[in-house]
Amino acid sequence: MTRAQACRKMRRPACAGTFGSGCYSSTSKTNHSSSRDGRFQLLRTIIESVGREGAQQAFETFFQIKGLPRIAARVAHFASRAGVAPGKVQVKDLAYRWAAYLPNGDLQLHWKCLMAPLTVIDSVVVHALCHMGHRDHSEAFWNAVDKVLQNYRERKEWLRQRGANLEL
Ligand SMILES: [Zn+2]
Repeated sequence: MTRAQACRKMRRPACAGTFGSGCYSSTSKTNHSSSRDGRFQLLRTIIESVGREGAQQAFETFFQIKGLPRIAARVAHFASRAGVAPGKVQVKDLAYRWAAYLPNGDLQLHWKCLMAPLTVIDSVVVHALCHMGHRDHSEAFWNAVDKVLQNYRERKEWLRQRGANLEL
């Protein structure tokens, strides 16, 4: 295996994703955004001053900052079940990958995972964690996944069908 374990690939449609999990209802600490009715909102003045690209960047930053504790908690929850001890957890842009785990044990998840339901986030986390013990997609790997997480295939199917729409 090379530098990182790559698993999930994303297609790239030009589809505007919705942001409505209701899980990100806390008010942002930045001056860029606010939260109303459980939805993240970017201040109009910011959009006008930084344009669409800047607005997208603000959303990405929001997901990365607000999403880290959420992802880290899921990693901690499933790591013990999987019998592994991952290193540092990061939420960042991983291009076409949903997750990667590095040779030093660090775990990285794409910030776009945060736009998926928690059950789907869990499947990405468990998939990555199980690669710490099995570097390939062998039968032993899938057995480990099934042991840690029920209904993995249904969650994976959600990601396959809708993951490409997780765009800003
Ligand atoms: Zn994999």
